[in-house]
Order: sequence, then C-alpha cells, then structure tokens
Amino acid sequence: MAAKDSRTATPQITIPRPSHNISRADISESALKVLYRLKNAGFEGYLVGGGVRDLLLGREPNDFDIVTDATPEQVRGLFRNCRLIGRRFRLAHVRFGREVIEVATFRARVEMDAEGERMTVNGRILRDNVYGTLEEDAWRRDFSVNSLYYNIRDFSVADFTGGMADLRTGTLRLVGDPEVRIREDPVRMVRAIRFAATLGFRIHPETQAMMSPLAHLLDEVPPARLYEEVLKLFHGGCAVRAFELLQHYDVFSHLFPQVQASLEQDAGLGSRMLVVKAMESTDARIAEGKPVTPAFLFAALLWLPMRHRLASLQQQGLHDAPASQMAASLVLSEQVTRTALPRRITHMIREIWDLQPRLVNVKKRRALELLAHTRFRAAYDFLLLRAETGEDVGDKAQWWTDLQNVDDAAQREQVLDRLARPRRRRSSRNRDRK
Ligand code: ATP
Ligand code: MG
Repeated sequence: MAAKDSRTATPQITIPRPSHNISRADISESALKVLYRLKNAGFEGYLVGGGVRDLLLGREPNDFDIVTDATPEQVRGLFRNCRLIGRRFRLAHVRFGREVIEVATFRARVEMDAEGERMTVNGRILRDNVYGTLEEDAWRRDFSVNSLYYNIRDFSVADFTGGMADLRTGTLRLVGDPEVRIREDPVRMVRAIRFAATLGFRIHPETQAMMSPLAHLLDEVPPARLYEEVLKLFHGGCAVRAFELLQHYDVFSHLFPQVQASLEQDAGLGSRMLVVKAMESTDARIAEGKPVTPAFLFAALLWLPMRHRLASLQQQGLHDAPASQMAASLVLSEQVTRTALPRRITHMIREIWDLQPRLVNVKKRRALELLAHTRFRAAYDFLLLRAETGEDVGDKAQWWTDLQNVDDAAQREQVLDRLARPRRRRSSRNRDRK
C-alpha cells in the first residue's frame, strides 16, 4: 500500500447532520438501499463525488456514487443484481431497473516515482489497483468539492480536503499540488472547465495557472476517454460557456486542432457564430429536457474545417460530390484521433453534411422524399443555423420552414410550386434578353 505522506495528516472535519442540508429524501432510493445494505452487513458506506457536491449546493445530482471498505467481491455477495466491471480497477455495478449504482472500494492515490514521473505506459496509469482507506480515497480525488463523503452511519459529511470551504466560495481547487495532479491525469483540466461552466465556479488561481502551460499533455490522452469527457462537457447544459473556457485555457486546440486552425484562418465572426449557435441550441434543448445528439454539435464544430478541405480539393480539380465525400472523410478521420467519435455518430455527421446541398438545391419532385429522410430534422436545423449566421443558402431555410408549416395538401402543393415557378420566370426573362 502507498506510503502516507504529510498531506494525509490534515485533520478531518466532520459536519454533523444538523449542520448541513443533505436530506435522505433527495437521495435516490436505490442508492439508499445500497448504503443501508452495506451498513447492515457491517461495512462502511458513503455517498461521494458529484452526488454529495450537488446535494450540498441544492442541485439535483446526475448520479450517486458510493464508496465502501467492502471489496468488490464482498459487495457482489450482498446484492443479487450486481456485476463487477473494470479490469484495472474493479467496480461493482448494482442495478435497479434502469438505474445503476456504482460502488467502489476505497482506493489510494497512485504515487509518483522519485523524479515525479507518473508511472504510466502509453498514458495509462500503472498500479491503479491499490485499495486504501477513506482518507486516502479522499486525497486521490480530483477537486476538493468532489471529495466530500456523506456517511450513512450518522448522516454526517466528512471533509478531508477543505471541500466545504471551497463549496461556500464556489472554488474548484485540485486536491494537492495542481501541477502534479494535472500531469498525473490531464483530463482533470477538461473536468475543471466542465465544473466551472456548469456550477458557475471559478477555478482556483493555482490550478488555473497550470492549465495553459500543461494543456499539451492532453495530446497523450487516449481519444476514447477524451470523447467521453468532451461529451459530458458539451451536454452539461452550459456548452457555450464551456467552449469559451476551453479556448481561454488553450485546451480547445488540443481537442479540436482542425477547428482551432480553421477559426484562425477564417477569422470572420460568422464561422465562430455557427459553433456558438449550435451550442446555444444544445443548451436550450437540454434546459427543456429534449434529447440531443453529439452529431449535431460535432457537425457544427467541424463544418469550417470540412469547408476548407472541400475548397482545396476543388481547387485541385475534384468535382463537387467526390470532393465533399473526401473532405468529410479526411476531417472526421483526423478528429477521431483526438476524440474517438463512434461510427454511428460520424455517420450521422456525414448525413447532416451530405443533406446540406440537397436541401439548398432541392427540386420539386425530390422535396417530399427529403422531408421523410431520417436525418432531415437535424439537417434542417443545421441549415437554419447556417442561414442565421450569414451563409448563403438562398431562400431555402425559409422555404423548408414553410413546407413544414402547411395545414393541408393544397397548401403544401402551393409551397412546392414555389420551387418551380421563379426558375421558369427567370429563364424566360433570360431568353427574352438574348
Ligand atoms: P457529474 O455530476 O457529472 O456526475 P461527478 O463529479 O460525479 O460529476 P464523475 O465523473 O461521475 O463526476 O466522477 C465521480 C467522482 O469520481 C468525482 O466527483 C471525483 O471525486 C472522482 N473522479 C472522477 N474523475 C476523476 C479524475 N480524473 N481524477 C480524480 N478523481 C476523479
Ligand atoms: Mg457522478
């Protein structure tokens, strides 16, 4: 087990039940069941992480994570509906209908070697499978506000790292030395930005100071992990703010190098506006409880790089259709090396992009077919964004809106006819002039 260092000697503060606002009524029944079962079997059981943080802030938690001194095998022995997952570090997943409660055994921090090098191979932390004490578990967590423990035994909150004080002042402070903690896991920078955006907290100055200089370490993080974190970041309901913070701390260019390069190349406001508008609409949908797909946001983010590639392929003499296909392939295959988008999502992005010229150049006889396309809605929303941000889409954004707003077949026919008539008139005028 890892040797204790001076930090673990910090006195623990216990906030008794009457002095905090966490009520059992706000904790999911499933999480309570797990906690009570652990307690009744003689184990320790604590709620930890975002669940405790959000309850203390009076917010509704996303999920409830539990830690215990029971080993994963002991946890499995207590629950029939339990599965052990993870190879590097075993976790127990206890399932109640659609809700899954994650139960982890107290874990100690992975120590640095004498040179302060993290003991990793290909970006993976070695020796991560070290069980520890509650206190050690507290010191290995990312931010002090994520390191508060709600004790099922007496309903008190245990604070080893100054999390309560940081909650009060709205501060995100990495536990321990910020440089060491970022080097150990650079994803913590992305998490800092996520919590700053969603909670409206400020990042502690010492943590902040390390971010830009260490942002390049994200280049070594496996893209699958970055995709997960970026998704949580952009689907946290505050994507616009997150985007600004990513750029502010120079993190953005390491997650989306092509987008950053394109934005610098094409400094017009419109290009950035498309991204911001897509994020605004994502935030609005989340606020209304509507479903969101990452494809829409990524389609918007990568639109400018795709257009730049397209232009250069066209300059090399490629025709529009193959050039578009190739531009999309090149941009997407490069992006998946940073954030591992699943195939299903890159496919949807391509569909949204492919549909753009088809929506703009629509002919009467193809219109209803396009309207019925599975990706029509996303592609239409995307077309609206382009129109709003000053891209030339003719009058087609309005036209598609009108087509969807008709009440009956006769009205629909009228809207469809608008596609045919002006063209005829123009061409007959041209003939007259000749
Ligand atoms: P959310 O509300 O989005 O679920 P969360 O804080 O619960 O936020 P999770 O990703 O669910 O975030 O992680 C649960 C807890 O695990 C965190 O609160 C933190 O204590 C710990 N944790 C997660 N990721 C890291 C990390 N990279 N380094 C250290 N501790 C981490
Ligand atoms: Mg959580």
